[in-house]
Amino acid sequence: MSQRDYYKILGVTKDAKPGDIKKSYRERAKIFHPDANKGTKKSENQFKVLSEAYSVLSNTKKRKEYDRKRSQKSSYKRGPSKGWGSSESDRWGYGFGNQEPQGRPRQDGPFGQTAAEDPQPHDPNAPTRGFDLQFMADVDFVTVALGGTISYNYEKYAHCESCDGTGETGEKTCAECGGKRQIVKEVNLDVKIPPGVADQYVLRLQNEGGEGMNDGPPGDLFLKICTKPHPIFKRKKNDIYMEVQIPPELAENGGPLDVETLDTVKTIEVEESTLTGEELRIPKNGAAILWGKKRGDLIIKFAIVGSKI
Ligand SMILES: [Zn+2]
Repeated sequence: MSQRDYYKILGVTKDAKPGDIKKSYRERAKIFHPDANKGTKKSENQFKVLSEAYSVLSNTKKRKEYDRKRSQKSSYKRGPSKGWGSSESDRWGYGFGNQEPQGRPRQDGPFGQTAAEDPQPHDPNAPTRGFDLQFMADVDFVTVALGGTISYNYEKYAHCESCDGTGETGEKTCAECGGKRQIVKEVNLDVKIPPGVADQYVLRLQNEGGEGMNDGPPGDLFLKICTKPHPIFKRKKNDIYMEVQIPPELAENGGPLDVETLDTVKTIEVEESTLTGEELRIPKNGAAILWGKKRGDLIIKFAIVGSKI
């Protein structure tokens, strides 16, 4: 039996309900379906692994057996998330398959491979795939909840223009790259944050990693979304919670009140004799539901100013 972490592959928690597993599978299947990826070998593999994960976790008997085997190997860890440490909330769902994203770009980058890593006699002119990069991005609370675009800066190895990737100018070593054929380049990338992604979600940006050598393909960029805390809003799955302070008079008599929500200002009706701790649920004003146009709810909790309860 495979030792892959099917829960991570499907991006669900260990106590996920069958419905959640099915939903997550469908969403991911869309992304990895070979038809959507020009039939690349990698996407084919990923799709295969995804299907494998689903076939086990969607079957009560197989899932039980899988859980039992896993609990015997609870110290077992695998996968490219090692650079970040792995936690239960890790939504690492990409990167399984054959690739091995590196941690932070290594100082010695693509050049300093040691003999131990590279037992084959190294042909400096062989096409080499660029490095996969893993970074974290701090993203605004509202952007994570509703989606949007962020501007992201990072560094990657790129083709040296001075020597056109040969490492030499004339008979001399290229002064720009020191003969390494690549230079560290700063990149500014507009990154789309899909609506309603969970905190710690990892986006995969294909071909945005280090450039390849000798016409080798570029690596990928894996961006982990770290949500910046918001002073007012808290999020639980797709619902947003906030506390609203109201004066005693309004609490007693009731009346309209303007409340700033995630993306607009709503006029709500405070009921007569509202008490501290009472809640008002406003449907469809919460966070987006992953990748879709639907939204969770906004839950307003009232606190009467000066109230000690
Ligand atoms: Zn150069």
